[in-house]
Amino acid sequence: APAGTPLLDAQGLRKSFGGLVAVDGIDLAVRAGEIVALIGPNGAGKSTTFNLVTGVARCDAGRITLFGREVAGQPARAIARLGVARSFQHVKLVGGMSVIENVALGAHLRGRAGALRGALGLDRTEEAAIFAEARRQLARVGLAEFAERPAGSLALGQQRIVEIARALCLSPALLLLDEPAAGLRLREKQALADLLRRLRADGLGILLVEHDMDFVMGLADRLVVMNFGAKLCEGPPAAIRSDPAVIEAYLGR
Ligand code: ADP
Ligand code: MG
Repeated sequence: APAGTPLLDAQGLRKSFGGLVAVDGIDLAVRAGEIVALIGPNGAGKSTTFNLVTGVARCDAGRITLFGREVAGQPARAIARLGVARSFQHVKLVGGMSVIENVALGAHLRGRAGALRGALGLDRTEEAAIFAEARRQLARVGLAEFAERPAGSLALGQQRIVEIARALCLSPALLLLDEPAAGLRLREKQALADLLRRLRADGLGILLVEHDMDFVMGLADRLVVMNFGAKLCEGPPAAIRSDPAVIEAYLGR
């Protein structure tokens, strides 16, 4: 999509778990060619917001428009097919499988009659197409030379980038990343930021949850600050950095 095209427009998202309101009326928009960071303390509702947008959890209230279509209530698989890919905060690569096999898992998910094909097995042509796409995406992120290595043998920063290659196999217009820089060394964070900038230049919209302030301040076009399930404020990095409410609630811990 051309830069500036609205990809995600969520309004009034709400989700409770028992008596706990995890997400309390969140509005969120992401456009093509934009990196938006969702920040806030632990338990603020960031991962739950991701789950609502990707159909992993169902919202109690709110509207979610993706690429112009209302999708609230649709299952995760349907939303993924529309062009939304994500990484999970805690689900990682299968360490014993090769890098290329891990990436191919993402391409598998794109198969049209996915569940049925999974049950019947893939024919060779399809299998070859899936691996060709996986190799394309691995090359796109600059890790082609590691294709045959066990995923678990790569450095953590490279594994994170392999996770992104796997997500890219879905040909997403919108990419959601939950704490992609967590635990990475400075050089690894720089490589990750470079890759995300390249994807942004390719026209993807990127929504990321991140705790590392230096990382997001240098990368995001816009930040959305959450606290106790609600949006505290929103704006470009410079405005957020100097917002008294943010400093008190979050940055000035
Ligand atoms: P964040 O990602 O910002 O750290 P989460 O979205 O994971 O926050 O969690 C927000 C709140 O909702 C937390 O209090 C968390 O304990 C609670 N929560 C999240 N998922 C569930 C769940 N599946 N069942 C019950 N409570 C949950
Ligand atoms: Mg989280």
